[in-house]
Amino acid sequence: MAKYDVAIIGSGPGGYVAAIRAGELGLKTVVVEKDPFLGGTCLHIGCIPTKVLLHHAEVYDHFKNAAELGFEVSGLKINWANVLARKDKIVKKHAKGIEFLFKKNKVEWVQGWGRYEGPGRVSVEKDGKKTQIEASNILMVSGSEAKSLPGIEPDHKTILTNRSILELPEIPKTLIVVGAGAVGVEFASIYNSFGTQVTILEALPRVVPVEDEEISTELTKAFQKKGIQVFTSCAVESVKKDAKGVTVSFKDKDGKAQTLQAEKLLLAVGRKAMTDGCGLEKSKAKVERGFVHVGDNMETAEKGLYAIGDIVAGLPQLAHAAMMEGIIAVTRPRFWEIMEGSSKWFPTNSMARCWGFISSGRWQRRFSRRRRRC
Ligand SMILES: Cc1cc2nc3c(=O)[nH]c(=O)nc-3n(C[C@H](O)[C@H](O)[C@H](O)COP(=O)(O)OP(=O)(O)OC[C@H]3O[C@@H](n4cnc5c(N)ncnc54)[C@H](O)[C@@H]3O)c2cc1C
Repeated sequence: MAKYDVAIIGSGPGGYVAAIRAGELGLKTVVVEKDPFLGGTCLHIGCIPTKVLLHHAEVYDHFKNAAELGFEVSGLKINWANVLARKDKIVKKHAKGIEFLFKKNKVEWVQGWGRYEGPGRVSVEKDGKKTQIEASNILMVSGSEAKSLPGIEPDHKTILTNRSILELPEIPKTLIVVGAGAVGVEFASIYNSFGTQVTILEALPRVVPVEDEEISTELTKAFQKKGIQVFTSCAVESVKKDAKGVTVSFKDKDGKAQTLQAEKLLLAVGRKAMTDGCGLEKSKAKVERGFVHVGDNMETAEKGLYAIGDIVAGLPQLAHAAMMEGIIAVTRPRFWEIMEGSSKWFPTNSMARCWGFISSGRWQRRFSRRRRRC
């Protein structure tokens, strides 16, 4: 049976950053990933593709206003297939970049479904075959997926999630976005720029409800100026598919029944933790509605089992948060001494190593090389 210092289930931003840092620290590390590529939600169907499309949308907005900027542009057309191809090219390039960093830092990775099997043990299942891994520390970083609403199941053709809306073969003429969190407003803005007539339906009294109120006010104004229709404090009652797309019935903020018709509907009503089938029931970890509770250093109630990223209860579901949580978890077992009281987070051993490094002269040589390059 293969033995490791660290086994990581999931290769999203939490998993790959933890793996690379563990490799840098000289820990024998393996990542288990169910998909045939590295990078997780953020790289393949989250942060990166949406930022690419937002950039395309912004450039297109500039072209539309070219005359105001002193340019004469004629025959302006979107080549949607090329836009999607560029997005895919950027995603693939970055996934290869993670593979390169894994090799550079001697991180191994295996494709398959990872499952916690008890203290120090992980199984990997692929094509019906199960293999076992032993590891002193196990990081569960299995991420999240789009939630749906009761009675409204995505079919990925008409009722979409963040995954399927990135693969639409054509720009829809009309789109209803249910949910005005970060994901909902990003796609609303992207498709509005590309000419789609967009309507947002949000249950809470304001868009981006976790941001400051001023941001919600300004964003609503900006959206209305761009022609995005925004309904807040409304309750979606039913979504019916028909030949033309979907018909949504909802009560608006005054309790008046309304219906809307659109070619496509995007469900952007939050993210659920992907912990089902990951074996957490075999541990003492406290799991609530799929989310895992952790203590200091991201360790769960089961010694040697850590939870990182979108599956952690009470922490933000953001890529950079996942990355930092991964770094905290892998640096803890090797270098960090937990101190009592105010100096609890003082990294005693790493400070000692750092001082040894500086005083050895290697640091001085590196520093002078850097200065010469400048
Ligand atoms: C549309 C959208 C836009 C976003 N934009 C931003 C943004 O701009 N900035 C930002 O900070 N955040 C953004 N986010 C959030 C960000 O994507 C997540 O917070 C981040 O991906 C979480 O990282 P993670 O490592 O916890 O999980 P994930 O990235 O979800 O990765 C989990 C990985 O685990 C794998 N996996 C799951 N179960 C198993 C198993 N049992 N065995 C093996 N592998 C498994 C999955 O295949 C996946 O590769 C966005 C999210 C979405 C949906």
